[in-house]
Amino acid sequence: MKFLPNVFSINSKIVAGQLNIADCKVSSLAKEFGTPLFIIDENDFNYRLNAWKSALERHFGAQAGSVYYASKSFISVEVAKWISSSGIGIDVCTAGELAVALAANFDPSKIELHGNNKSEIEIRAAIKAGVSKIVIDSHQEIERVNRLANEAGIIQNVLIRLTPGVEAHTHEFISTAHEDVKFGFSISSGDAAKAAQGVEQAANLRLNGVHCHIGSQIFESEGFEMAATRLIEFLSEFRDRNGRELAELDLGGGYGVAYVEGEITYDPDVAMSAIASLVKVQTTKHKLAMPVVSIEPGRAISAPTTTTLYEVGTTKNVTLDDGGIRRYIAVDGGMSDNIRPALYGAQYSAILANRTSTQSAISSRLVGKHCESGDIIIREIDLPSDIAPGDLIATPATGAYGRSMASNYNHMPRPAVIAVKDGTARLIVRRETQEDLLGLDVSEQPRTIN
Ligand SMILES: *Cc1c(COP(=O)(O)O)cnc(C)c1O
Repeated sequence: MKFLPNVFSINSKIVAGQLNIADCKVSSLAKEFGTPLFIIDENDFNYRLNAWKSALERHFGAQAGSVYYASKSFISVEVAKWISSSGIGIDVCTAGELAVALAANFDPSKIELHGNNKSEIEIRAAIKAGVSKIVIDSHQEIERVNRLANEAGIIQNVLIRLTPGVEAHTHEFISTAHEDVKFGFSISSGDAAKAAQGVEQAANLRLNGVHCHIGSQIFESEGFEMAATRLIEFLSEFRDRNGRELAELDLGGGYGVAYVEGEITYDPDVAMSAIASLVKVQTTKHKLAMPVVSIEPGRAISAPTTTTLYEVGTTKNVTLDDGGIRRYIAVDGGMSDNIRPALYGAQYSAILANRTSTQSAISSRLVGKHCESGDIIIREIDLPSDIAPGDLIATPATGAYGRSMASNYNHMPRPAVIAVKDGTARLIVRRETQEDLLGLDVSEQPRTIN
């Protein structure tokens, strides 16, 4: 167990043996807000928003489109306000995510709608709000969005989502751009060209460009470069067929972050520099004008800003077949607030957060309180041998796909989210209560349904 400065949020440090985040002692935060608790380092979040925005602008200049923060990684009304203030856009996939953005008074011209199966209600809501772009994901959707835009009496700007057939190397195999996936139109099969023609012929759609998202937790530029190369080839073929150029290239998200020792969060400047050079070379090669380039980082912004704080409830030692000892340390959350280890085999790190131990570290397994053997947060980690009930454990880099994927398994209320900044803390998503959950249970009289 070690405090890893590159995995914890920027304003995290150890002071007098205790983890402090933005100058708040975690023991005081636990007392005030309870555990499990998601703690967002607000200045870090704003720092990362700006880092991606300025990297895009620095490397693409006048052709820099927008950074669209992928709201599915984590969104709340307060966080949507930070994003809005930073001047970047937001990507939403459902009416629910759209509603959060609108509740934060997000400028609709900076909202982009995604999703492989958007309902008519969702498309209508997006058109009504006036979102800048809808990313078309299927043939049926061309007709659907066109019809709803027609009903609303508008011409809707759209992109089409393409699958460039690239298997990005990721730690988690969350790869979405090879051929055999539910998302998008395949370039190699000719489906993408067909979709582009379909949109061209739809009276109430304007095809602005193409989109791809190749996967998540990617650390090398190679996958992005291959995808961009194929998309630019597609733009060139489109120009040859239609006699006009599409202006926009949206390269999605997926930039990797550090979760454990040895990993290094993808630097926005390094990522944008590599992609910009490639896009310039490829567009020149095809004699295309430089497109407006947008990106959609989610995890790269939200993950590193947030730490989950748990309280230890029980411990036990198990003797392994090889005679070794494994220590189970059970905390007051688990797979209901962090499903990623169970879902993808994702790795996390953790520290004893409320004090320093002088005891030696022993092989431990950090587990939750759910009725599943697979309710494991960290399979194998060295933690001090004297960790006991009442101690606090902090797992860093839980800001993406943690609270946003949280469930009520075992009827657990979902944890609160607080923002900390310069020695102050405030609730931005309150903890669910038993009343919230029981409020869903009803006992209707049977009604005849024919
Ligand atoms: C999930 C997703 C993103 C964000 O992915 P990260 O790995 O969080 O950066 C961006 N765009 C689309 C279309 C997505 O589905």
